[in-house]
Amino acid sequence: MASENTLVPLSKEELTILAEHAIEAKQKAYCPYSNFRVGASVLLSTGTYHTGSNVEIASTPNGICAERCAIAPIVASMKRPEMPIIRAIAVSTDISPPASPCGMCRQFINEFAVSDDLPIYMYGKNGLEGEVVMMTIGQLLPMSFKRLNYEQNREERGPGARRV
Ligand SMILES: [Zn+2]
Repeated sequence: MASENTLVPLSKEELTILAEHAIEAKQKAYCPYSNFRVGASVLLSTGTYHTGSNVEIASTPNGICAERCAIAPIVASMKRPEMPIIRAIAVSTDISPPASPCGMCRQFINEFAVSDDLPIYMYGKNGLEGEVVMMTIGQLLPMSFKRLNYEQNREERGPGARRV
């Protein structure tokens, strides 16, 4: 029995389904300003798949990327600490080599990853038939800033430390 923080590798079938969901989610992208479509899918330890696409608005910095669009509703709809583990993420774009998650999304994914080994699969313009890139969140965001850093800071500054 795997511990609750252990990532179970995806079967070939699970990976195919994950990719298909990301590719399908890309069709739903709302990106009238950039025309850069992105779809994302997330596989949870419960076996469910969740998707998101990028959603832009006229005030372009206020849009949201597909990855955060997929993950935020999961977090918002589940009780913690019982929230299922994210086993893998897929991202689909129309370019090759495939695009990787932006810096903001890397940090966002990292917040909910139980391990630096969380795999992120990237698919380009030819989908499952094209080039696929897999990198872990640890590779995409080395030396990341984490929740643990707050605890370290508290320990090092001491309970009596005052903000200045
Ligand atoms: Zn992003």
